Amino acid sequence: MKIAFIGLGNMGGGMAANLVKAGHEVRAFDLAPAALERAREHGAETFATVREAVQGVGAVVSMLPNGQIVRSVYEGDVIGHAPAGALLLDCSTIDVATARDVAGAAEAAGYETVDAPVSGGIAAANGGTLTFMVGGNDGAFTKAQPILAAMGKAVIHAGGSGAGQAAKVCNNMLLGIQMIGTCEAFALAQRLGLDLQTFYDISSVSSGQCWSMTSYCPVPGVGPQSPADNGYQGGFATALMLKDLKLAMEAAQTAGSQTPMGQRAAELYAAFAESGHGGLDFSAIIETL
Ligand code: NAD
Repeated sequence: MKIAFIGLGNMGGGMAANLVKAGHEVRAFDLAPAALERAREHGAETFATVREAVQGVGAVVSMLPNGQIVRSVYEGDVIGHAPAGALLLDCSTIDVATARDVAGAAEAAGYETVDAPVSGGIAAANGGTLTFMVGGNDGAFTKAQPILAAMGKAVIHAGGSGAGQAAKVCNNMLLGIQMIGTCEAFALAQRLGLDLQTFYDISSVSSGQCWSMTSYCPVPGVGPQSPADNGYQGGFATALMLKDLKLAMEAAQTAGSQTPMGQRAAELYAAFAESGHGGLDFSAIIETL
């Protein structure tokens, strides 16, 4: 299929390359010349504008920084410029309200849409092992499924429009809270004189076990290989965790939901990012404890 890909950054670059590998004709656009160069190296054709990239395509995939940019790209250059009936897949992490608004405008103009944010970082984007949480109607989901499957290991239908973004913010709020809890437990264990490997051996098979401990341990040299073993470089940046926690808090406010732990996690990550650590993996917050 002819697919336009907009936003070829850390995540989108690898995702577009995987669409090429799966045999799609990828028409790529990004504002950054270096991103376009990399897309060409991976076999995509590149264009000078979004409007040119979406000519004649069956689908448009986007991986952009935030909701404001997603809205301006779709409302300014995709809707009314991509062929009527094309499937629009936004994989960016954005607020639920903007996702629903943009989808509504696109559907009113005759397009099919899904919001399909991802779990998994840059390595998963490059390796084609992302998990997609998809919001949209059954027909759009069925058409989106094979396109997303070329970039991921799991494609899950979360519900109607915006449901993918809702699942993403709830998941990442839980992850942020869980990581801080894991860090606190290790910090306390250390103060109490426990050997950290021994604490891991006990807790990883006890009721405190969680993903932040057994798949992404924040303590260097303990558990499987993780960013902690690499000076907290790479992985999932604190700034991105903060972005997702802010989206979760916005969603909680709109929905009238009580999220005291999510709120506290957002405050702690904001303080950590403001102290100059926004580029470190989010598990580095253990250093503040
Ligand atoms: P990034 O900043 O590396 O890439 C974004 C790209 O969008 C850049 O190349 C930028 O030039 C381009 N861009 C910005 N405005 C544009 C416009 N108007 N038109 C075309 N291109 C434009 O960001 P990223 O890490 O790839 O993240 C992209 C999205 O994925 C974000 O919504 C982020 O929250 C989400 N996400 C990131 C990760 C991660 O680990 N990096 C994990 C899960 C989800």
